[in-house]
Amino acid sequence: MTATIIDGNALAAELRADVRRRAAALTARGVRPGLAVVLVGEDPASQVYVGKKVQACQDAGLHSVLERYGAELTEAALLDRIAALNADPAIHGILVQLPLPKHIDAQKVIAAIDPAKDVDGFHVASAGALLTGTPGFWSCTPYGCMKLIERTGIDLAGKHAVVIGRSNNVGKPMALMLLQKNATVTICHSATANLKHHTLQADVIVAAVGRQNTVTADMVKPGAVVIDIGMNRNAAGKLCGDVDFAGVREVAGWITPVPGGVGPMTVTMLLVNTLEAAERAAA
Ligand code: NAP
Repeated sequence: MTATIIDGNALAAELRADVRRRAAALTARGVRPGLAVVLVGEDPASQVYVGKKVQACQDAGLHSVLERYGAELTEAALLDRIAALNADPAIHGILVQLPLPKHIDAQKVIAAIDPAKDVDGFHVASAGALLTGTPGFWSCTPYGCMKLIERTGIDLAGKHAVVIGRSNNVGKPMALMLLQKNATVTICHSATANLKHHTLQADVIVAAVGRQNTVTADMVKPGAVVIDIGMNRNAAGKLCGDVDFAGVREVAGWITPVPGGVGPMTVTMLLVNTLEAAERAAA
């Protein structure tokens, strides 16, 4: 079997077009959805990420503000800025780009964001909302993965999903989202004994490790859905995921490529969350 590729670029384009339509409708009613992106320091990767987020907002007709501060910004000054953005009616979503400089407590900063504007879904209130199945913002990367799985048309109810990775921002929320769709969920991590034993039973595998070739063809049940969140560089310096794409695509039923799978969905779900924050504020 050769797997069907789940095209993240195509799905992201569809969802962004929908965001653009809904944002135009809301703007016509006098509410232009607005995202504030806060960057502290000079981390080169962070600069690229925030640039992409701001550009995506502009392309979708959202208002966006990029606040850049030097690495010497104090925690107190950053908390003041968050308070001002919380109170700003033109801003519906606030994103603080991580990592922050070491002298700033990232948890404290995220906790200061109004949960109604927490479009990254990192606030404990957002995590709690996901845990309890109440309204809140879902963390963008796992939310994007849910959309990719939805694209296969497969009903998750009763399916066995194996998530590899248990980080607070990716693995754990991913597992909770799958659970909410009635999958039976196993979470694997670095202390899991015999990873292959678990993945071979999976109808859906989501890899969120950050290590090339964590999932190989012999670890995948024929026909399974394989979602690759990993972003790594191979020996040639080329971007690759956690899954051995060439091998696994011969066994799986559905697979996401890297690049062009989960990556484009993350920024897209940030736009979706910002739009929804504005729609809720305008309701
Ligand atoms: P992380 O915080 O480093 O977590 C990695 C997880 O993998 C941990 O839970 C770790 O287990 C587990 N792990 C490590 N080695 C393992 C092994 N040999 N077998 C099984 N599990 C193992 O990373 P993250 O933030 O969740 O990100 C994971 C990957 O996704 C990274 O490559 C990151 O770049 C990528 N990512 C991509 C996007 C995107 O938009 N495409 C967004 C976010 C992240 P322990 O908990 O036991 O240490």
